[in-house]
Amino acid sequence: MEQAFETVIGLEVHAQLLTASKLFSGDSAAFGNEPNTSVSPITLGHPGTLPLLNKKAVQYAIKLGLACHCNITRSNYFARKNYFYPDLPKGYQISQHTTPICVGGYVTVKTPEGEKKIVLNRIHLEEDAGKSLHDVNPYATCVDYNRAGVALVEIVTEPCLSSGEEAYAYLTELRKLLRYLEVCDGNMEEGSMRCDANISVRRKGETRLGTKVEVKNLNSIRNVKKAIEFESQRLIDILKAGDEVVQQTRSFDAVNGNTFALRTKEEANDYRYFADPDLVPFNVTTDFIEEIKSNIPALPEERIAVYTQKYLLPEYDARVLSEEKEFADYFEEITKHTSNHKAASNWMLGPVKSYLNEHGVAIKEFSLQPSSIAELIALTDEGKVNFSSASASVFPVLVKNPGKKAHDVAVEKNLVQDADKSEIINWVDQVLQNMPDKVSEYRKGKKGLIGLFVGEVKKVSRGKADPKLTNEILLQKLKS
Ligand code: ADP
Ligand code: MG
Repeated sequence: MEQAFETVIGLEVHAQLLTASKLFSGDSAAFGNEPNTSVSPITLGHPGTLPLLNKKAVQYAIKLGLACHCNITRSNYFARKNYFYPDLPKGYQISQHTTPICVGGYVTVKTPEGEKKIVLNRIHLEEDAGKSLHDVNPYATCVDYNRAGVALVEIVTEPCLSSGEEAYAYLTELRKLLRYLEVCDGNMEEGSMRCDANISVRRKGETRLGTKVEVKNLNSIRNVKKAIEFESQRLIDILKAGDEVVQQTRSFDAVNGNTFALRTKEEANDYRYFADPDLVPFNVTTDFIEEIKSNIPALPEERIAVYTQKYLLPEYDARVLSEEKEFADYFEEITKHTSNHKAASNWMLGPVKSYLNEHGVAIKEFSLQPSSIAELIALTDEGKVNFSSASASVFPVLVKNPGKKAHDVAVEKNLVQDADKSEIINWVDQVLQNMPDKVSEYRKGKKGLIGLFVGEVKKVSRGKADPKLTNEILLQKLKS
C-alpha cells in the first residue's frame, strides 16, 4: 500500500434470517423451491392484503444485536421505501427507517496489529427483493419472486475498516457469529449472506472522508478482499494523477479480479419513506430481550478463553476448536469423559477433522460418540496402545462400528501392549536416579516412600507399568 494514502471501508451485509416463513407472510422462505411457488398475494402486495410481522425474525435480529453489544431499540415501526424495480412486486420494500432494531455495537476481530473492534452503525430488519435471472432465457430476463419478502437483517459498519484483510477478518467473524447464533446459514455462494463494500481513499492526515465508491456482487469473502484491494489502488491512482474520484456503484468481476462501473450517482435517491400504514408499531419489552439473552450459546471468544485459561490449550487449538459451534460442542462433550484436554484437542484437530474433510461429513452427522474418543484417549494414556495405532487402526474401525468399545477393537487387532519387565526396570532406574534424596531417606528407614516411587514409575510409564511388578522391582533395587 502506498505510504501517503489510507483506505477507508464501510461494509453493508445482508443476512437472510433462518425463519421458516417470510418477514410479513406465511410463505415459505426456503431456498431452492420451484420458481414463483412461494408467492402469496401478501408477498405481491395485492390490494386488501395485510402483512403480519414474523416474531421469530425480530428475535433473531435482537439475538444478533445482543451478541454484537448493540443497544436494542424499544419502540419500532416499519417504513415503506418506495422505488421501482422488476424484482420488487409491491413497488416498495418494507424496511426500518429511523428505528433500526439494533444501534451501535461492535465485532472484535484479530488483525496482525492485534485486536480491533469493528464498530457497527446499526442492524435493521427488512424484506428481501425477488431475483432477476438473466441466464435462463437468452431473449428475456426472468423474475423469481420466491425470495421477495424473505426476512433480512442489514448489518452496517461505520467507515472504520482500513484494508481488504480487515474486511476479510470481519466477515469471517460475522459469519461465524451468525452461524453460532443459528440466525443465518452464512452461505455467500447461495446468497444468504451478501456484502456491499463502500471504499474511499484519502491522504494520510486528512480528517474528512474521501468520495466513496460502492462495490456490489461480491459472492465470497475472498472476493470482498480482492475487490477492496483492487479498488483502493484504482482510487489512489486517480488521486495521484490529480483527478477526482466520482461517486459510483461498481461491480466486481471475479474472473478478471477488477471492477467496472454500474451507475454513477448524481444525487441521493428519494425513496419517499413513510411509516407503513398496514403495520402497527411494535415495542420490545425487557422480558422479551432477557428471554432471548438466556438462549444465546457460549460464543467463540468465551470458549477460546475457557480453552486457553482453564484447559490450558494453545491459542491455536482454541481458535480452531471454536470455529464452528457444533465442532466446539463435540470437543466439550469429550472433555466430560476425560481430563486430558490436550489429547481431546489433538484428536479433534487431527483424526476427527481429517475424517470429516476427507468424507465431506459435517460433525453433526459424525457417527462416533464423543465418549468413544475419550475411550481412545484412555487407551493411549494408559499406554495400552500408542497414538499412531489408535488413530490409524482403532479409530477407523470405530467410525464404521460406532457401537464397539475402543478397548475391544484394540484387543481384536492385537494392538494392546503391556510393558515387559525390562522396560519397568528402566523406568525404575530412571525414577530412582532423579530422586537421590528420597532414596537415601527411604534407606534411612522412611519405608512409606515406596508409594511415592510406585506413583512416579506409573507417571513416567504413562500407566504402562504393572504396579505389582513395579513394587517388586523397587524393593529389590532399594535393598542394594
Ligand atoms: P448510503 O446512503 O450511500 O448507503 P450510508 O451513509 O448509509 O451511505 O453508508 C453506507 C456504508 O458506507 C456504511 O457502511 C458507511 O460506513 C460507509 N461509508 C459511508 N461513507 C463512506 C466513505 N466516505 N468511505 C468509506 N465508507 C463509507
Ligand atoms: Mg447503501
